[in-house]
Amino acid sequence: MRVDLHLHSNHSDGVLTPTDLMALCAARRVEWAALTDHDTTRGCAEAAVACAALGIRYTAGVEVTLGWRGQELHLIGLAFEREHPVLQQHLSNVRHLRHERLLEIGRRLQRKSGIAAETITEQLCANSRPESPTRLHLARALVAAGHATDVNHAFSRWLARGQPGYVPAEWPNLETTMTALAAAGARCVLAHPHRYKLSAGALRALLGEYRELGGHAIEVSIGGMSPNDLDRLATLARRFGLLASTGSDFHDPNTPWNTPGRFAKLPADLEHVAVRL
Ligand code: AMP
Ligand code: MN
Ligand code: MN
Ligand code: MN
Repeated sequence: MRVDLHLHSNHSDGVLTPTDLMALCAARRVEWAALTDHDTTRGCAEAAVACAALGIRYTAGVEVTLGWRGQELHLIGLAFEREHPVLQQHLSNVRHLRHERLLEIGRRLQRKSGIAAETITEQLCANSRPESPTRLHLARALVAAGHATDVNHAFSRWLARGQPGYVPAEWPNLETTMTALAAAGARCVLAHPHRYKLSAGALRALLGEYRELGGHAIEVSIGGMSPNDLDRLATLARRFGLLASTGSDFHDPNTPWNTPGRFAKLPADLEHVAVRL
């Protein structure tokens, strides 16, 4: 079964509406999908309706931003009670931090580099869609204004650590985040563990802590990843007794390497988190 539990809509930094996103999933023969926007569940109801009409099995999802040892990590919550007040309060707190950080990035880029970034970030934060504005929105605007050749260049030139628009944020920690997700009955999936700038030892420490706190699963197969990374993550899932998840991390039809439903199969001995939802 094609199970894509990592997808973004235009309620965060994806470009498609939940309805158009699910239509693309159906065209790509995805059979089970979760919309996992950054720090918002605003698109979940529309995604559920679209999936029902298309015959796709649907699970509520969200990709929550958190801080761990000074690193920004992403934790996916699945199959939760959508309007649970504890979870919604937590997401609202994180979005507040997002707004504050983005506005500060705009001020710094304007002050240090003379880029007219303040109006961009102020507009992004004033709009109701995206409900969850991200640095990717700003990166796209910097490209459109000619300050970078593509979004990766916008990150490396302006937004990455050490660049003029880098602003660290005090995201909620792992325990606080998992407590909020657990309150709403969520299953947790640690997103893309291979992407974090952590030593092998630090990654093992993270997974040990994560499992102690009741973590269920990690992503093992993601769109665009190397076979080598997949092997590493599969080994970690076995070693820590965690379930495995699959997802494309799809944002934009113009980046075909992570189109919905496109990722390698899980090794046969790993159990998919979808089976336990
Ligand atoms: P934020 O969550 O506000 O920090 O924005 C980061 C988002 O930008 C991620 O969710 C990715 O979708 C996207 N992104 C695209 N390219 C990069 C990059 N080179 N570095 C970091 N994030 C990137
Ligand atoms: Mn994103
Ligand atoms: Mn992520
Ligand atoms: Mn994502």
